[in-house]
Amino acid sequence: MHNQKKVEQPSIIWRYSDKKDAPRILGINPWIYDFAAYNVWTRPTGLLCCLEMLGRAGACTALVDFMDKELDPDHWPGPRKNGQGHYPKTALPRPYVLKGVPRQFSRYGADKKRVRDVLTSIYPEPDLILVTSLMTYWYPGVISCIRLLKEIFPRTPVSLGGVYATLCYEHALNSGADLVISGPLERPDNWTKLWSLLGQGQVPIPEDSGLKPDTSYYARPDFSIIMTSRGCPFKCPYCASSKLYPRFRQAEPELVIEHVRQEYERGVRNFSFYDDALLVNSESVLYPLLEYIIDNDLVLRLHAPNALHIRYLSPKTCRFLKKAGLETIRLGLETTDFSNRVDSKLGPEEWHRGISNLLEAGFVRQDLVVYVLAGLPGQTKDELDISIRECLKMGLRPELNYYSPIPGTAMFEQARKYSDYPLEEPLWHNNSVWPCVKGGFSWDEQKYWKEKIKEGP
Ligand code: SF4
Repeated sequence: MHNQKKVEQPSIIWRYSDKKDAPRILGINPWIYDFAAYNVWTRPTGLLCCLEMLGRAGACTALVDFMDKELDPDHWPGPRKNGQGHYPKTALPRPYVLKGVPRQFSRYGADKKRVRDVLTSIYPEPDLILVTSLMTYWYPGVISCIRLLKEIFPRTPVSLGGVYATLCYEHALNSGADLVISGPLERPDNWTKLWSLLGQGQVPIPEDSGLKPDTSYYARPDFSIIMTSRGCPFKCPYCASSKLYPRFRQAEPELVIEHVRQEYERGVRNFSFYDDALLVNSESVLYPLLEYIIDNDLVLRLHAPNALHIRYLSPKTCRFLKKAGLETIRLGLETTDFSNRVDSKLGPEEWHRGISNLLEAGFVRQDLVVYVLAGLPGQTKDELDISIRECLKMGLRPELNYYSPIPGTAMFEQARKYSDYPLEEPLWHNNSVWPCVKGGFSWDEQKYWKEKIKEGP
C-alpha cells in the first residue's frame, strides 16, 4: 500500500500511501549537541520503527535525518571502510550550566543552513512532524531543531518522542513541541494521542509495530542496522532499557532475514546490531538469521557496538557469529569485582567461559573490546584498576564506559545524592562530564587511564 518510492527533492524519499487523504508525516532526527560524538553505525531506530508503522497505518511518510551524510554530502567527512565515521561539527559556546567543563561543545550533524534549505523545499508542508530524541543531555539539539521547524512550518503540529521525551517527560514539555510522547508510539494511549493531533481517531495499530525499522529512507547508505528484539529481560540499576521498553520483544525471524536480504541486494555490506539483548533466546531469531547469512554465502561485516551478554556466548553462538562475519565485538563486563557487582548479568565462570568460547571459535583476543563501567557513584579507583588489569592480563582490550545517571533507573537516587551537580538538569547526565566522579571530568585523569590501558598489565 505504501511501497511506491519517489524522490521529491534531493535527500528526501517519501513513501506514499494509496489511502485517500493520507496524512503526510515527516520524521526528523535532530542534531547532537555534545562535547564529542562519533558515528558508531548510528541510526534513529525508534523513529524508523514509528515511520514504518505509520506507513502501514496509511500515512505518507518521509525522513530528514540531520545526522546522515546524504543531507549534507559536501560537508561530511568520508566514512571508514566499515561504515563508521566522523560527523561534521560546528563549535558552539558551552551551555551556561556546563561553563566549568574544560571541553569544547559542538553541534554535530548537517550544516544548519543546508538543513533549513532542505526543509524549506518541502512542499506541500507536512501535516505532522515527528521529532525523535536520544540522549537526555542532547536536548539543546532537539529544542533548536523544533524552533527551526516551527519557523519553517508554523501551521504543522510537532510531536516529540524518543529517549529524552520518555525519561525526562516533564522537562520535554518545555521543548516547544505540541505533543510529547513518553514511551513507545505503539502503546495504545500514545498512538491515539498522535492520531488525534491529526484530527483522526480509531486508527488500528498495525501488527508487530515497533519491531521493523524502515531503513529504505536512506538512499545510499554506508551501513544498515539489524534489530532482532527490543528491550532486555535484565534490570541493571544503571540502565534505561527496561524504562524505555518495559517488555522484552523479539521480531519474527522472517522479517529480519527479509530486511537483511533487501539491504544486501542494494549493496549494503556493513550491518550493525541494534539490540540491547541480542543473544537472549538466540534460537528464535539470531540463529535463523546467522544461518541464512552463512548458507547464502553473504559476504558482510557484522558489528555489535552494544555490549553483548557474555553469559550467552555459548560455543554454538560464537561459532555462528564468527562464520557469519561478526567483526566488531563489544562485551558487557562492567567489573571483575563479581562479589560486589550491582547487577546480576554475569558471574565469574560465565565470564571466563564466554571468552574461551569466543577464542575457540576463532576470534582473536585483540578484537575483544570489553566495556568496564567507570564513574559509578562511590566507585573507587582501585576497583577500576583491578578490572582493567584483569582484562589486560587476559590479552583483551578494556574500554572505559562512563556512567550516565538516568532518571527513573534504580541507581538515579544514589547518583543524585553522590553527585556534586544538580542531576534534575539533563545536561548533567552527560557521561563526558563524569557527573558522579568527585571533581568531574579532568584531562589528567583521562590521560592517566589511557596510559594505564596502553602500558598493559
Ligand atoms: S543487561 Fe545490558 S541492556 Fe540489559 S539491563 Fe543490563 S545493561 Fe541494560
